[in-house]
Amino acid sequence: MVQFESPSRAGSPSSTGSSSNGDRKSKKSKRRDGGGSSKKRSHDDNDNAETTVNGSSSHKNAERRSSVSKPARDDRDRPEPPLKKKKRKHKVTAPTPEETGEASTRSPSPVIDFDGLSRPSRGTRERLEETDEQKAARLEKMKGAVRTLLECVGEDPDREGLLATPERYAKAMLTFTKGYQQNVKDIVNGAIFQEGHNEMVIVKDIEVFSMCEHHLVPFTGKMHIGYIPKNAVIGISKLPRIAELFARRLQIQERLTREVANAIMEVLNPQGVAVVMESSHLCMVMRGVEKTTTSTITSCVLGCFERKEKTRNEFLSLIGVNRR
Ligand SMILES: [Zn+2]
Repeated sequence: MVQFESPSRAGSPSSTGSSSNGDRKSKKSKRRDGGGSSKKRSHDDNDNAETTVNGSSSHKNAERRSSVSKPARDDRDRPEPPLKKKKRKHKVTAPTPEETGEASTRSPSPVIDFDGLSRPSRGTRERLEETDEQKAARLEKMKGAVRTLLECVGEDPDREGLLATPERYAKAMLTFTKGYQQNVKDIVNGAIFQEGHNEMVIVKDIEVFSMCEHHLVPFTGKMHIGYIPKNAVIGISKLPRIAELFARRLQIQERLTREVANAIMEVLNPQGVAVVMESSHLCMVMRGVEKTTTSTITSCVLGCFERKEKTRNEFLSLIGVNRR
């Protein structure tokens, strides 16, 4: 894959048509976006941009990371009592110390902390900074929990086939959630280049494997990410990695879609970002309504993708989602 040249090329706004997005997965289109993006970006600007299927989110209070306040996909998932919807306002979401218990780690950004942990939960930092002994203790605790689960489903955890299952599952679970320990800034790692490129960049069909936080079972699908640069472009391989970071956490699809869009907006400050995800949820397929062919589509459009229908439609037609 062609990688971007060194950042020292900043200030040579040439070669618009062939900037180095050589990845074959990326599709570029030629368009002028009218540059209506000089407006100072604010988080409020990003708000209201979502068109997630369920449409609401609540980030305002101590429950900001709880999914309880979001409508469930499935009536049976609906928590009781349902919290009233709150309008999301990023500007005021910086949680107070009582809310996070670790105020010193929060930056005003709701998306990425200064340390890049990006929506850490209680315990995330412990996991990141644990010693070898703590790590071993964590694994033991998880193994005990899995053993309990095995007993509770009517199995014999001591039969041969299951002997190593608690450890395997514990390790697998840590892998499925490794995104908690990852850092957007480490992933981007300076791969932002001033190319003077201002046309749409799309990476489509990014495979995504995530875990439904309501049922702890996977949901898998594809994510399509598009953005229109404001001169600066991001190394094209970084987009799937940002998607991976947020997918490797306990998620709901709506939030995953939004977090990826917000993170790209935050690290790159482009004219706009659009993220669409289509996926299949095992909790729907294997239980509950048991509809095996359904897919759930969520999208989040920010900046010029939100403001300009034409831009949005171009993106949707390029990723092939609005085909009929
Ligand atoms: Zn679920």
